[in-house]
Amino acid sequence: MARKRAGWMKWAVGAAGLCLALPLAAATPPEAVPSAAQTAAQTAAEDAKFAAFVKDFRHTARDAGISGDTYDLATANISRNQRVEDRNLDQPEFSRPIWSYLDSAVSAQRISDGKQMLLSYAQMLATIEAKYGIPKEILVSIWGNETNYGQATESFNMIEALTTLAYDGPRVDYARPQLVAALKIMQKQNYAPSQMTSSWAGAFGQTQFVPTTFLSHAVDGDGDGKIDLWNSSADALASAAEVLSDAGWQRGNPWGYEVQLPKDFAYEDADLDVTKPISEWRKRGVKTVAGDALPRGEEYGAVFLPAGARGPAFMVFDNFKVILKYNNAASYALAVCTLGDQIKNGAAIQASWPRDEQPMSRDARIAFQTDLQKLGYEVGTIDGVLGHKARAALRLYQKAHGLPPDGFPTGDLLDRMYIEIKAKGL
Ligand code: CA
Repeated sequence: MARKRAGWMKWAVGAAGLCLALPLAAATPPEAVPSAAQTAAQTAAEDAKFAAFVKDFRHTARDAGISGDTYDLATANISRNQRVEDRNLDQPEFSRPIWSYLDSAVSAQRISDGKQMLLSYAQMLATIEAKYGIPKEILVSIWGNETNYGQATESFNMIEALTTLAYDGPRVDYARPQLVAALKIMQKQNYAPSQMTSSWAGAFGQTQFVPTTFLSHAVDGDGDGKIDLWNSSADALASAAEVLSDAGWQRGNPWGYEVQLPKDFAYEDADLDVTKPISEWRKRGVKTVAGDALPRGEEYGAVFLPAGARGPAFMVFDNFKVILKYNNAASYALAVCTLGDQIKNGAAIQASWPRDEQPMSRDARIAFQTDLQKLGYEVGTIDGVLGHKARAALRLYQKAHGLPPDGFPTGDLLDRMYIEIKAKGL
């Protein structure tokens, strides 16, 4: 049943938003498979539309300063990329729990490889750290998290992938400026189109830059006169350091550390947006993970609970938020910071994760929003994404029911709301 519903979701997005070649999708049951002849005709029509888009986008590129020769060379052999289209429309049914993400992002192998990278590239990393103030362990960790130290890069044709995304689909607004930027890079750096490989979404090189970030921040780390994020680790890592430095990384300051919270902690204050001086957290009974009092500093930090009150707790500072500017996902930032700690021989996360919590399906997330709304809470758009508003509503619900208001959605809470809605006849 869940599989079928997931299929419907994908179908509905294709029909409503993307003008794909599924003319009667909304009225056609998902079981109805078009005939081979119909499919071939649709594909031909779609390819013709794509070719017209490529021809038309030439004007946009020319207006942005791309030469006709560059554009024609870049687009000479591209076509609509089916694998890119599939990834573009993919809506995973389940969101992966953070502990499962960290299991692979901070694996024993990746830690030991990271330690090896610190040794192998000691001089290059020391030079970058001295210049930008970014700890070498954080840079190596980003390298590991992005591409497993340069080994796991995808090899889509960057111009083809971005043109496919720019043509149609949910990422048109992202992809069009990225396509222009990719063309500018090609023109400026004299890259051959075959050299310009990227992920399906157009991120490229050992630290996975998108083209606009390349234009604003890429640097020549090894001083050979060229910028090559694919083949030069020094260029890729110096460029990443440039991004972090520009995003406000504070030299010499930590990202944060794991802490213990007192039993009576005011969980509504566990929020990346609620910052207080460490001395204030100390007064409230927050301790180091070893159980000692926090230092007396006046530096502002936030208490971060990536898996709610039942999981590990962290005190995080401004540098943690700088990592979020590099990639705005808390699981990513925590992976970068804790892999960095362990590459440096620091401790792993001590507290256990609530691994008995089931991954939340998209349907369950929609039910969460719908139920909170029925119970009178304001949740914003019901879209299956549990954003800031839904979490704030959940905290209010938890508080009203004498539960720790951590804003973390669980199956138990969903059951509880369901029973209350039935009892109230809502
Ligand atoms: Ca270089």
